[in-house]
Order: sequence, then structure tokens, then C-alpha cells
Amino acid sequence: MTRIRFYRDLGITELYRRPVDPALMAKLAAAAEEKSAADNENPGAAEAALSGPNNRTFAAGDTDSQPVLLEEDNPISPRKSIPAPPQVAAEVPVAERAAALQLIRDEIGDCTRCPLHKGRNKLVYGDGSPTARLMFVGEGPGADEDAQGLPFVGRAGQLLNNMITAMGLKREEVYIANVVKCRPPGNRVPEPEEIATCSPFLFHQIDVIRPQVLVALGATAATCLLGQRQPLAGLRGRVHAFRGTQLIVTYHPAYLLRDPRQKKEAWADLQIAMRELGLKPPKRG
Ligand code: URA
Repeated sequence: MTRIRFYRDLGITELYRRPVDPALMAKLAAAAEEKSAADNENPGAAEAALSGPNNRTFAAGDTDSQPVLLEEDNPISPRKSIPAPPQVAAEVPVAERAAALQLIRDEIGDCTRCPLHKGRNKLVYGDGSPTARLMFVGEGPGADEDAQGLPFVGRAGQLLNNMITAMGLKREEVYIANVVKCRPPGNRVPEPEEIATCSPFLFHQIDVIRPQVLVALGATAATCLLGQRQPLAGLRGRVHAFRGTQLIVTYHPAYLLRDPRQKKEAWADLQIAMRELGLKPPKRG
């Protein structure tokens, strides 16, 4: 009963299938609308941050894991519908965020909700600080992640680590998760049904952590989070209001490994994130 009450306090209704207090939902919806209207008042601010060249690049490590293969401008099949995300949950006090994340992990359990569980070695829930101000969302675990049960620990992860360091942060200060928590066979793009089944847990993780800035890595994450099927180029370079956070879309590190010329563009996106977080890049040398 205590656990159920805790779920309800978090707004995590899908996890125990009980209706949530309508007054609370109305309050959250009104707050979300208000926030969205305020965010849309200044749409040119993010673009302004992109002006001026920046030659900074991130070097990848040389581990030999297979990165998830992505077609950056061609995410989830256009034939399929995108699931509506759950309603934004009530804010969780900072001191309770780790416990709330653990509750969601417990609820996922030894998941068999979608076919991806069949090829799974380890479920990759997420990693990092429950109170992170910055959160990254990738597509799905690759071979290294499936083996270790941790997100972004292969070659793409090495590049992501370098990106985080370039922003002046430590990996343990941010939170990293994926759209799906089990490795798609052969690192294929997750199917819409798999995303629809798994992504509610990601949305709840986001609602608990409530990062100031959320970075979608690649087209699958951007499409899942924004519910908009658009080429990545049209979503990058600006701030999107999303579930009470500032969402920034950039290239997936695996794509950057294949086309390092785009690192400059990715760095421009990360600078937008840094501006939103009030961060300055660390001094080189
Ligand atoms: N690619 C992803 O999208 N996620 C990971 O965790 C690793 C590689």
C-alpha cells in the first residue's frame, strides 16, 4: 500500500494501473502548458548561440564494440504511429529521487513485455546521478552495453564520455538512458511497438530526475521524445520545451564515429546545452 501511494505521489499511474487524482493531473497539465507558452516566447535565443565557428572536436577511444547503426535522418518507420507519452508526473523531492528511480527499476523487473527480452543478456536501465542537471537519451544498448548492463560503455560511449568532459562535466554527474532497455538484434533500430512498450519507463525516469537539460542523441531518441517525425537537421540547433525540461537534439555518437565531420555541429548543439546550464567549457591545456 505504501509503495502504491508512493507511485501515485510520483504520478506513475501506468505502473500500478490506478487512476490518478484528476485535480493533480489538471494542475500538472496547466503547469506544463504555462511552461510551454513561456518557453515559446523566446524562440530565437537558441539559434543565436549557434553563430560563430567552433573547431572543437571530441576524439573517440579505441575500444572495439559495435556501435548501434543509425540512419540519422530516417528513424522509426513512417508507417507506424508514435505512442503518446504518459502525463508528466509530479516533481519528486531531490532526496527521494534515487529511491523513485529504484522503484521504476523494480517495476520493470525481469521484463518480458516485448520481444527484445529474448536476445537480452543484461537489461540496461540507466546510469548516473539521480539528481543530474543534464541527461542524455540514446537509442538502445549495443553489444558492450548488453554485456555490462550499463549504457554507452562501448566505442560510442567513449565518444560520449569525451563530449561530457568537453562540456566541463564528469560522467557521474549526468544521467544516461536509452529509448529501449534491451539490445535490438544486430543493433537494428527498435520497432515502434518496442518503443511504445519500453518508453513509458524512460518518461518516468525523466520525470523523476527532472533534468534542466535533456539531450536526445540521434533520430530515434528525438522522434521518441518529441513525438515528431522530422529529419534530425530540422530539430537540431534549438531548444525544445519538453516535460518541464529544455530538450536539445544532436547527432548520435555512433553516427559521429562514422562521419566525424559532424562533430563540429554536435559541439554547437552541446554549447546550447551548456548555455542553458550556465556552464563554460573547461580551459584547455
Ligand atoms: N548506443 C545507444 O544508443 N545506446 C547505448 O547505450 C550504446 C550505444
